[in-house]
Amino acid sequence: MERTLIADLRGKLDQTVKVQGMLQTLRDQKKMQFIVLRDRTGLLQVAHWKAGNPELAEQISKITTGSMLTVTGKVVANEIVKLGGLELQLESLKVESMAESPLPFDPFGDTLPSIDFRLDWRYLDLRRDLNLLMFKVATTALHAMRQYWIDHGFVEIHSPKLLGAPSESGAELFELEYFGTKAYLAQSPQFYKQMAMAAGFERVFETGPVFRADPSFTSRHMTEFTSLDMEMSWVDSHEDVMAFEEAMLAYVYQQVKDKHGDEIKERLGFEIEVPTLPFPRIPMSRAMEILKEVGYQLPPEKKGDVDPGGERALADYVKKNMNHDFFFLTDWPISVRPFYHMRHPDNPGLTRSFDLIASGLEITTGAQREHRYEVLAAQATEKGLSHELIQFYLDFFRYGCPPHGGLAIGLGRLLMVMLRIPNIRETVFLFRGPNRLSP
Ligand code: ATP
Repeated sequence: MERTLIADLRGKLDQTVKVQGMLQTLRDQKKMQFIVLRDRTGLLQVAHWKAGNPELAEQISKITTGSMLTVTGKVVANEIVKLGGLELQLESLKVESMAESPLPFDPFGDTLPSIDFRLDWRYLDLRRDLNLLMFKVATTALHAMRQYWIDHGFVEIHSPKLLGAPSESGAELFELEYFGTKAYLAQSPQFYKQMAMAAGFERVFETGPVFRADPSFTSRHMTEFTSLDMEMSWVDSHEDVMAFEEAMLAYVYQQVKDKHGDEIKERLGFEIEVPTLPFPRIPMSRAMEILKEVGYQLPPEKKGDVDPGGERALADYVKKNMNHDFFFLTDWPISVRPFYHMRHPDNPGLTRSFDLIASGLEITTGAQREHRYEVLAAQATEKGLSHELIQFYLDFFRYGCPPHGGLAIGLGRLLMVMLRIPNIRETVFLFRGPNRLSP
């Protein structure tokens, strides 16, 4: 008999079917046994009348939570059953894999242990419905983004993550042994996205892992994360990149809302809101005034930069005054931006760059890049970078490169904002941080 998914049972009323899944709970009563069975599409109540088959009843009594079962039975409508008004009247049962008991924690229980404990047992933690929902949303979001890129003439690249030279600066760089020499793990695909511009690809995207040797323990940093990157040629300024990103995100939110809006509402208790366009743009000079106006004091070491508290204060201001959850913070001073960001021709102290802040959290950095070899080389020198290390990158610009710009979105951060998840560790399959390398 072919397997029927739980979500498809409604179409099989009064038929005998085979269902496969995990035992979520067992209620062993005097006369009846009820198994709540779970597959990737939902939950099903399986009912067994003990007197009908006492041997099977005895076997069922011993099945532990989490065990994997194949069951057959008749699908019947039963209005009092909370799980979709359906019930399977058990005919046969096979235990495919018996779970050890007790479980280190009950992923279906009402109270959950600390996040660190759950991360030790992530494979059990991932059994929670919310986690499957999150991965479904992530799949839809990434699919939508990829669709949007493809529809707009982008091609996909996969740049190497093993590098012979640091991709940006020495900070936050993982170093490793490489056949008697040193290699580094890529902190971003930045240089290679730009190489594709020099190659005349004009529009590229890449989704892949990047690595940051950042010893911070915040709720928004990981040492390895998935970066969603794009780069596009023939832009007039960073404005073109921002316009592209906001339209793409509105599309992504719409797709997620259409596909998962109801389930998100039901399980998480809020409506996914598709952001309206355009997102407000706030130049850094104006942001500094706003922070003064609202009485937020930046730490002195943050000169020219905004700290996470400042981002939240600005987000509150934007929400209150412009009724928007997203805003672009633009035109950052050169002191806090990398050498390859293009500078404003009429104000060389400022870069043509932006961050996207969503619900008070930075989710994107982007910019127009400097594509003129001489200017780029001079900016690298000014930042104190050794040309020897980055000459391979500077060379990309020697034989013609169009004006271009691009951005990077952290997938974990996007999910935090979209699904209102307070800690980035909950948004990834397996978290990697300064003191976590397993499972
Ligand atoms: P932050 O200031 O928050 O440390 P950043 O300015 O170093 O971030 P970028 O290097 O510009 O970030 O990276 C682009 C995007 O990648 C960020 O906007 C964010 O969404 C994501 N990101 C950056 N660092 C991390 C990290 N350590 N963990 C998870 N996501 C990150």
